[in-house]
Amino acid sequence: MGAPLTELEGLDFRFTENQKMISESVKRFAEEKIRPVLMDFDESQEFPLEIFKELGQLGLLGMLVPEEYGGAGFGYFEYVQAIIELGKVDPSIALSMAAHNSLCTGHIMMFGTAEQKKKYLPLLATGEWIGAWGLTEPNTGSDAGNMLTTAVKDGDYWVINGAKNFITHGKVGQVAVVIVRTGEKGDSHGMTAFIIEKGTPGFRNGKKENKLGMRASDTSELIFEECRIHDSQRLGEVGEGFIQAMKILDGGRISIAALSLSIAKGALEASIKYSKERQQFNKPIAEFQGISFKLADMAMEIEAAELLTYRAADLKNKGLSVNKESAMAKMYASEVCVKVANEAVQIFGGYGFLKDFPVEKFYRDAKLCTIGEGTTEIQKLVIARALLK
Ligand SMILES: Cc1cc2nc3c(=O)[nH]c(=O)nc-3n(C[C@H](O)[C@H](O)[C@H](O)COP(=O)(O)OP(=O)(O)OC[C@H]3O[C@@H](n4cnc5c(N)ncnc54)[C@H](O)[C@@H]3O)c2cc1C
Repeated sequence: MGAPLTELEGLDFRFTENQKMISESVKRFAEEKIRPVLMDFDESQEFPLEIFKELGQLGLLGMLVPEEYGGAGFGYFEYVQAIIELGKVDPSIALSMAAHNSLCTGHIMMFGTAEQKKKYLPLLATGEWIGAWGLTEPNTGSDAGNMLTTAVKDGDYWVINGAKNFITHGKVGQVAVVIVRTGEKGDSHGMTAFIIEKGTPGFRNGKKENKLGMRASDTSELIFEECRIHDSQRLGEVGEGFIQAMKILDGGRISIAALSLSIAKGALEASIKYSKERQQFNKPIAEFQGISFKLADMAMEIEAAELLTYRAADLKNKGLSVNKESAMAKMYASEVCVKVANEAVQIFGGYGFLKDFPVEKFYRDAKLCTIGEGTTEIQKLVIARALLK
């Protein structure tokens, strides 16, 4: 079943001059500031704090936040383009940017009270504070609805106990939005979201994970031990946290589709350049059909993924539901990204296996895209549910 015609009507992929300028400035920043140091951060797994703060000065950490709250007030087209340009150079910084914008900041923007927005959005949009978002737990990833971390009401306070893991900015973030159980297990209305600041007694980060890829992006545990949170830190209604989280992921998946595109495009650009330069059997390897057909497939699949991504972005800009469309974009783009990164290493041959060339890192970073913000299998569930309802 295709999308109703109305969803595709008026879809226009021509970028405005302003959008092109944003792309160009992000590209320049990534080439000048990130490219020279990206392997140092990858090797050391250090979060590039200064670079991230500069993203804030460029307006990239509050891209979707209205100007009245200190954000850039852009739409999803600008957001997708910025992630693509950043991720073509370093996907791990682009992942951090996407998580900061779509998850923590996005959740407060969408469900916060006027006071919560006034307090937190300017801090997050400028990059003064870095935001984390905690849904996943050690035993509940895809099955997040069965989470074990609880919040129990005690007068005007809630007492939180439990742990979240795999949390982007769990260590470097100053504030986290966390979704915890306040009702019965298995009840999608049994969870509530809270804003919790670092420094709150009983709240700390645990282990920082040592990862295959996206190594400069901080991924850590969050631990809650008798952590008391005032009710004013609650985001939205009691029992609505899980429903809110699913809505946040609907938008967030567009950013993971963009991240996937960034890696695939970066890998394709590197492969085209290399295959024209690398000579074997007295000619550039691009002249072998075995290589040029790979390039053709890579380019075609990237463009198909790009269409799905901008289509979801367009619907989001129009305030329409993107549940099925963002799942399609995220799933397809992430699978294309893994495939393209794999082919890129093949085109580079032995040099693709070395850290001296960018495709080795793209290959490692790519795999996160089929896992984070819902695995490929979970996207299929989302798409199938939308078709069958
Ligand atoms: C680098 C990184 C950053 C992350 N950042 C965050 C973050 O900021 N905040 C956050 O909350 N989480 C974050 N995550 C967690 C991420 O969202 C989860 O890892 C993901 O949702 C999968 O959960 P899991 O790892 O527990 O895998 P599992 O849920 O255990 O899945 C294992 C396998 O089983 C499959 N599977 C599970 N259920 C089904 C089913 N019903 N049908 C078919 N197959 C199924 C999965 O697709 C997968 O292949 C991050 C993860 C990583 C790696």
